[in-house]
Amino acid sequence: MIDPFAWIAGWIHETLLLPLLFSTGEMEWEDTSFMWALFAVYGVLQVVINYAICVPAERYFPLARWERRETVAMDVIYTLIARIGVFPLVTFFGFYWIQTAMNGWMTDHGYIPPTLESLFPALLGLPVLTFFIYAVVLDSADYWRHRFSHTFGWWYGLHALHHAQRQMTFWSDDRNHVLDDVITYMWFIGAGLLIGIPPLQFPLLVLTLRLVESFSHANTRISFGWLGERLLVSPQFHRAHHGLNAAGRNSCNYGAVFPWWDMLFRTADFRHDVVETGDARVPEALATGSWLAQQKGGLALSWRLLTRPRRRKVAAE
Ligand SMILES: [Zn+2]
Ligand SMILES: [Zn+2]
Repeated sequence: MIDPFAWIAGWIHETLLLPLLFSTGEMEWEDTSFMWALFAVYGVLQVVINYAICVPAERYFPLARWERRETVAMDVIYTLIARIGVFPLVTFFGFYWIQTAMNGWMTDHGYIPPTLESLFPALLGLPVLTFFIYAVVLDSADYWRHRFSHTFGWWYGLHALHHAQRQMTFWSDDRNHVLDDVITYMWFIGAGLLIGIPPLQFPLLVLTLRLVESFSHANTRISFGWLGERLLVSPQFHRAHHGLNAAGRNSCNYGAVFPWWDMLFRTADFRHDVVETGDARVPEALATGSWLAQQKGGLALSWRLLTRPRRRKVAAE
């Protein structure tokens, strides 16, 4: 059977990338450019799936209503850059390259590279369960990353860009400072290396987790029900994290996919009355500025919170 995604990636590769590589004399990148095209196609597929699920939810069961949606367009740009440009580069090439280098170094020095199956041999031959456990481990690592980004002032200065959005929609998931994105990917890659996720499964895991994350930002009143909300992060659960009065150090609901970590570490809040989102204490440029103004604003806020301990309390609490 022909894999339609490989076919589309092959077409992009042959009609766009190969002529470009040929004209610039960079033909040694031929195989690499095909893999980039393949994961970029997965990135596009992910945006299409998000769109197909979230747009009806936002249109037919909306929560907040706005006269104009002028700041949503910027979040669309963030999404396209993150999912089509950065995602394939980092989750496949970054992870693959680092894992190969690390495993090579460990084998040379007489160590065995870590894998989940070597820790729990019962998992051998159970790929679906292993994939699920990978997702649970990555999500628990992400809970702590997110919680720390609210604990340290300098880090919240960057993360505040994500919280500044008053018109939160499913597009807002990728609205992040580039430095915050770099830390997030390094964190994810570190966790993935520790449990020895195979390189082709890593991007698929990130794709799956990000699907739930996108939906959790949707502007919709759809509820998962009492039990459902305790199994998977819902739009209401994540909206409470983005609430106007919840941003900063005293937030709740840090989990991205499973609410279990919040329940375990007592940061869960299952209220349903949060409609308005944003962080009124951060500079307006973070909410409504251009892409560059938002990035510069995040960096400036981070620096301010790092170098002025007295003001850190005011802005990050
Ligand atoms: Zn946050
Ligand atoms: Zn969020």
